[in-house]
Amino acid sequence: MENVTSTEKLVIKRVDLKPIGAVEHYNELLQKDIQDFMLSIDGLEQVDCPVCRSNTSKLFGEKYSFKLVTCDGCGFVFINPRPTPAAMENYYANSKASAYFQTNIIGPTEGNRLRLIVTPRLNYINDKFPNKGTWLDIGCSTATLISEAKKTGWQVTGLDFEKTAIAAAEGKGVPMLTKPIEVLDIQDQYDLISLFEVLEHLSNPRETLEACFKANAKGGSIVITIPNIEGFEFETLGMEHSNICPPSHLNHFSPSTLPKLLTDIGYEVTDIETPGYLDVDNVRNAMLSGKITTTGSKLLDTIILSDAPNAADEREVLQGIVARSIKSGHLRVVAKKK
Ligand SMILES: [Zn+2]
Repeated sequence: MENVTSTEKLVIKRVDLKPIGAVEHYNELLQKDIQDFMLSIDGLEQVDCPVCRSNTSKLFGEKYSFKLVTCDGCGFVFINPRPTPAAMENYYANSKASAYFQTNIIGPTEGNRLRLIVTPRLNYINDKFPNKGTWLDIGCSTATLISEAKKTGWQVTGLDFEKTAIAAAEGKGVPMLTKPIEVLDIQDQYDLISLFEVLEHLSNPRETLEACFKANAKGGSIVITIPNIEGFEFETLGMEHSNICPPSHLNHFSPSTLPKLLTDIGYEVTDIETPGYLDVDNVRNAMLSGKITTTGSKLLDTIILSDAPNAADEREVLQGIVARSIKSGHLRVVAKKK
């Protein structure tokens, strides 16, 4: 484990995590997956707002033949109508894009991901929860994070459904739960529950978080990271944003809708932050590739496209402002079960 403190300056570029060319091929496979998927299913189901149960909404946008709507009751943005949970399970099991993503994007960048994502994430958790205890990581994949956490004194458990991920996690000595938390009757057990980039994919985010609340020990916490629909990158790119990717992302939370849902369930929300690094770099790439021509602001366009000798430093300053303004696309919310 590298000794990087959470206060040390990190510079993360998109290319460190997503090799050029691989992303383009992934997007082609994704389009084919979606076409095959739409032909294979009987239809989509209309659902009430997963956050507040309201049944009225307005159109937010359309992509890949799916509609995104904004709930009239609470402002939550979600895909509606949407595939059934069973159809989604089938989609992931057969997705060529998902398999390619694992092999050609995650695989070759694993060293960078450990250094740039896993290590800072573990340092954050260890700074935030110095007493440690029991930790359940939901959607842990191959359990890279919690197997490192175990070495620092946590008593860890993972949860995932994917067979190769489960085998890899167990190979690292991490005990695994392999069913949705909603069907496991767990009560007052975990000091920490985490969902890192998981909630956007789930058919029933409210039921999942209710089960987390039950499974949390009294005084325990939940940490959630998720794309922020109100971030700078979304404001600039709109529906072109790569995080708008139905049917994979069913839910688009914001710094207001996720805390509202957690509070409704009984949690006390303690932190709402957007500690992202990639927004300005992503917008710059979108402009350089011609995906968009302007951010809508001449000042921002100048900073983002500048080739001046100090331009990279200026963009880092801008990224810091984006993150501190709760405008990064990477949202982190922490809440406590009292
Ligand atoms: Zn709602």
